[in-house]
Amino acid sequence: MNVDDNKGKGEQFHQKNEKSLHDIENYIFDHIYKSGRSLSLNSTTADRDNKKMILLIDDDPDMIEVGRKIIISAGYNFLSAKDGLEGIDFILKYKPDLILLDYMMPGIDGVEVFQRLVTNQRFRHLSDTPVIMLTAKNDYELDRGSLFEMGLSAFLIKPFGHRELINVIDNVFILNQVKKKNKELEQKIKRSEYKYQDLIENANDIIFTLNLKGDFMILNRRLTTLTGFSREDWMGRSFFDLVAPEDRVDARINFQKAIQGKARIFECRIICQNGFPLFLSMNINPIFERAEVVGLVGIARDITQRKELEQENIELKNFNESIIQSIYAGLITLDLDRKITSFNSGAEDVLGYKSEEVIGKNIDDVIPKEESKRLVPEIIPPDHSNIRRELETTRKNGSKVTIGYTLTPRIDNYGLKVGHIISFRDISQIKQMQSEVLRMDRLASLGVLASGLAHEVRNPIAGIKIIAQTLEEDFEVNDTRREYLGRIIAQVNRLDELLRTLFSYAKPREPNLKKYQLETIIKEVLILIEDRIKKSGIEFETKLSESLPSVFVDFHQIQQIFINLFINAIEAMESGGKLIVEAAPIETQLQPKDRRNARFAVTKKSEYIRVKVIDNGKGIDQEAVNRIFDPFFTTKATGTGLGLSIVYRIVEDHKGDISVESESGKGTTFTILLPTEE
Ligand code: ADP
Ligand code: MG
Repeated sequence: MNVDDNKGKGEQFHQKNEKSLHDIENYIFDHIYKSGRSLSLNSTTADRDNKKMILLIDDDPDMIEVGRKIIISAGYNFLSAKDGLEGIDFILKYKPDLILLDYMMPGIDGVEVFQRLVTNQRFRHLSDTPVIMLTAKNDYELDRGSLFEMGLSAFLIKPFGHRELINVIDNVFILNQVKKKNKELEQKIKRSEYKYQDLIENANDIIFTLNLKGDFMILNRRLTTLTGFSREDWMGRSFFDLVAPEDRVDARINFQKAIQGKARIFECRIICQNGFPLFLSMNINPIFERAEVVGLVGIARDITQRKELEQENIELKNFNESIIQSIYAGLITLDLDRKITSFNSGAEDVLGYKSEEVIGKNIDDVIPKEESKRLVPEIIPPDHSNIRRELETTRKNGSKVTIGYTLTPRIDNYGLKVGHIISFRDISQIKQMQSEVLRMDRLASLGVLASGLAHEVRNPIAGIKIIAQTLEEDFEVNDTRREYLGRIIAQVNRLDELLRTLFSYAKPREPNLKKYQLETIIKEVLILIEDRIKKSGIEFETKLSESLPSVFVDFHQIQQIFINLFINAIEAMESGGKLIVEAAPIETQLQPKDRRNARFAVTKKSEYIRVKVIDNGKGIDQEAVNRIFDPFFTTKATGTGLGLSIVYRIVEDHKGDISVESESGKGTTFTILLPTEE
């Protein structure tokens, strides 16, 4: 041992007071350890002073002496025990920072002391205290390996030098500190790992990692609660097996992109254990290690409820859409910029546009501007709720249609106006009916007037005729005055004829309905007008279809219809022409009105016979065509303008129908429907 090498504080102290070594030890005992005894066993070394305390357990007094010198000179506090039992006692009492333990001792040896130290519960709080075993060179039987495993810090072989001992002690302290730090660090890491594991385990989303093949590497237990599968079953299995077959292609595409280093968010379905699909919003991100993707981490959120809501929304929208489409009325919606946002099939029917060709267009570009400005005024008073109007507008093909419409503001959820709703109907027919009613009204009042007039005028005329006839007899046969009287009588006859017509128009009899063959009626009429046809050089032709059912009409009234139509035709063909009468049954299939009547259902043909009277005369002007059925409308110098109004009225009385087509210069066709059955 080379004492002179010592340079520490303790050594200086030691050198100055060579003899007081024992005093020092006593001092330490008095001031620290004796007071230390009153401290609890748990008190730490820091409670004493900041010098470390080393306990040497050795039965050799020389060794203790030497050890004391070296250790104190190195700046440590020193304590010694003379055998194993005292050592154990001191360890418990003084809790040294390091133990130097002699292997070879009488009584309990070093190994046993050490074993008690590491195995006995009483020393648990000291388990970190480093122990250095002092052995002799020939202690071969010692199982050093297992002692190290049990936590022994070092062996030191006797005899050892001053520096050697201090080196070992210093090193063991340093090592121990490092070990302690490591242990703390380890615990910290473990704690945070637990924390993260806890977070992952209890997350509300499925959290997982995939390897580059797409197999599950980590999977939290949310999978089990959401799908019913045990997560162990899915560890190591392919993620794609979990994905619903219809979403696999998409999932694979996203997986491939993620592996290339791009984070992906997508939706996919997975099939649960019970076979039902679960909608997930997937968020997968690459895991990088040294700039290389080594796997993926994924978070999957259950969005089934949201999807169901979306689905419900879609269904509701479809439902609304189908209602809008199925209503008969036209429905157009516009946004505030007057752009068409919807156009239902009713609107298609009335206006002739297909929804595809108008949606997104401005209403002003679809129908003429003057009309669209009336339909949806640019400025609408703010307090208006609905606007109801009529409008004659233009179809796609350019023809006119009268619509009755309601303009309603479109209001969103927040009560703001976001556009317009136009609902409308084609009221052209209603308009036509209105004008028809108007005409009938006019006819009725004229009728009253005419019957009164006819009655009043016919009596004096009858008087004139009788007087004229009586006078006629007073003159010679060749007297020219007789000829004048003849003319008077002829004019009176004409007047009478006119009044008779007027009278019959004004006071129609109830029709006397019977079954007649149409041919019979036409033949009777022909007898009456044969002369005129021949005189005018007109060719007459009938085209009656075979097995024509009989008409159910008043013979005289129908006769009157044909007389009027034929005479008009003859008068329209002054320089000859062709008059054709066509007749054919109209095939109408009557459907049973309800199921009860289904088995009695008869397919009735020819409820009506359609008769056409066709001439190739001078035709009717466009403006005149709407007025020819009006009483007293005539274009002829000697016409009465009553013929067609009587025809119209008779057809009405028979619940038939009459229409006219005519082209100026080419000819005219009257079409009449006459009933065939009661
Ligand atoms: P009227 O024959 O006394 O003029 P109607 O009521 O019979 O009175 O006919 C009214 C008008 O309708 C006629 O004046 C004529 O202008 C027109 N009209 C009727 N039938 C024909 C026809 N077949 N061709 C051309 N014009 C016709
Ligand atoms: Mg006429």
